[in-house]
Amino acid sequence: MEDYPRNLAELERRFATEEACRKYLAGLRWPDGFRCPRCDGTAAWPMADGLLRCRVCEYKLSLTAGTVFEGTRKPLWMWFRAIWWVVGQKNGASAKGIQRMLELGSYQTAWAWLHKMRRAMVRPGRDRLRGVVEMDETYVGGEKPGKRGRGALGKALVAVAVEDRGDDGIGRIRLAVVSDASQESLAPFATLTVEPGTTIRTDDWSGYGTLTDVGYPHTVVPSHELKIAHRTIALLKSWLAGTHQGAVSHQHLDYYLDEFTFRFNRRRAGHRGLLFFRFLQNAMMIEPTTYRQMVKSVRGPKPSNHKG
Ligand SMILES: [Zn+2]
Repeated sequence: MEDYPRNLAELERRFATEEACRKYLAGLRWPDGFRCPRCDGTAAWPMADGLLRCRVCEYKLSLTAGTVFEGTRKPLWMWFRAIWWVVGQKNGASAKGIQRMLELGSYQTAWAWLHKMRRAMVRPGRDRLRGVVEMDETYVGGEKPGKRGRGALGKALVAVAVEDRGDDGIGRIRLAVVSDASQESLAPFATLTVEPGTTIRTDDWSGYGTLTDVGYPHTVVPSHELKIAHRTIALLKSWLAGTHQGAVSHQHLDYYLDEFTFRFNRRRAGHRGLLFFRFLQNAMMIEPTTYRQMVKSVRGPKPSNHKG
């Protein structure tokens, strides 16, 4: 099931051709075998242009449509090497590093790749948090401390959801930039990231006042008891400060949060090859609606110039 290269030499040997890369991606996209989206047929021919053709109804589809690899002009083996490198950077990957590693002429290309990769790192909407979840929010960036609920100049507000695994400590996390700490922002964040019926623990901030209404048993505790949320926030802040010298633009904060979440949720995965495998698994998941689109639809559109 979890089939991945053990080291760089194996990666290079195994994924030397486009065909080998495509075969691997197809296995991740259709773990139970190919399924034609039109006729439900179970076999397809690979075509020279990288498309697949259903053997029953002849429908043509692209293996990579809707994924991070859609429309790329660079060979997949280059992507595989870039991903291998990115997942191995414990303190976060930089565009400069990718540029150097792949010997790309353009810094911008490297930067665009890195941002595409970050976007593929998290797949909320699936695998929502469960068990007992702690929620809190924190301001990131800017210089002045922010006042809760009112928005603070120069700062971005990040909502935080953390699984409480009891004696096993912190489970998985979800993070998202929210426009403010109102009920209109925090309840949708819960809905998108936490399985309905899960107990959510927060402090008595009014922004969490509608959690019960949207389907979550809600426990209110004094703020200082939100230990795992606070611990996660501290780790996030030190990661941002260390990796990005604290200079994280709001525009790209979503991407950094995705990278942090990916690394955090797989901090015990151990093997680099397994991270590589998980990354590609995420990357090949085709979402009918992406998380960011969902967030945008609840908080209104936000200008963005990195559609890449
Ligand atoms: Zn078909």
